[in-house]
Amino acid sequence: QLHGKVALITGSTSGIGKGIAEGLANRGCDVILNGFGTENEINLLKTEINKEYGSKVDFVGGDLSKSEDIIKLSQEIYKLYPSGLDILVNNAGIQYVSPIESFPPEKWDLLINLMLTAPFHLIQRFLPSMKTKGWGRIINMSSAHGHVASPNKSAYVSAKHGLMGLTKTVALEAAGTGVTCNAVCPGYVETPLFIHQARDRSKQQGITFEEAKKQIVQVHATGEPVSVDQVGEAVCFLCSPAASQMTGTSITMDGGWTAR
Ligand code: NAD
Repeated sequence: QLHGKVALITGSTSGIGKGIAEGLANRGCDVILNGFGTENEINLLKTEINKEYGSKVDFVGGDLSKSEDIIKLSQEIYKLYPSGLDILVNNAGIQYVSPIESFPPEKWDLLINLMLTAPFHLIQRFLPSMKTKGWGRIINMSSAHGHVASPNKSAYVSAKHGLMGLTKTVALEAAGTGVTCNAVCPGYVETPLFIHQARDRSKQQGITFEEAKKQIVQVHATGEPVSVDQVGEAVCFLCSPAASQMTGTSITMDGGWTAR
């Protein structure tokens, strides 16, 4: 149970991050949401989570691909919670698919900034207060693409592999302080990010959306996608006492993809 703890989940206005916020709120944790969305959507989500689980729910916005926004977000969080976070979930992420020869350099920068540099900045800002408290959980949303590559995803695969390295390094630096740092590596999860990829594929290959989804998920030995709730539960497990000796490692949930 996570009563009295506070978590920031980046990119939690949608998909996996939203599922994680709900999972943590369900354990009694106060949650800070972040991500893009209209004011209405965000207010609705805050109200929904608060009503359903009774947790305090805040929203702190910011484009995490920009370091100035990360500084502002951190300051705002320390204003809300002067002793800092207990749980940091670095989840915000996007995909961009293109052969490397035509991969736009600005897209490379965007993906690396959002999925590798932002976690670095956030860990740098929130690890010290976790160490002071003697308890903390840092969870980095990697991917099966943190273990293996696929063509045309150079920035994504590089960011996720880099995030695995960051996870291990932070785990070693924090070892013995009560703070753990781990990654979660899902295969394909049915979220808007996945749906966009399926839509693009169906257009490019002239196949139906359902066929495109099936094709993408064929990379899983099970042929089935992971659910948002399953990822949320994995994060909650990493925050539980049973996981206190797990650090510098990852939970892979990819329907057997990387076992092949
Ligand atoms: P999603 O598109 O449903 O949600 C992404 C979230 O990140 C949204 O809340 C969005 O507003 C936010 N976001 C995007 N750009 C941002 C920015 N610049 N600053 C702040 N927030 C930003 O995607 P998802 O599928 O839920 O993905 C979440 C994470 O899970 C990503 O890191 C992704 O790489 C990872 N992941 C997804 C899958 C999958 O199949 N969906 C598989 C493995 C890993």
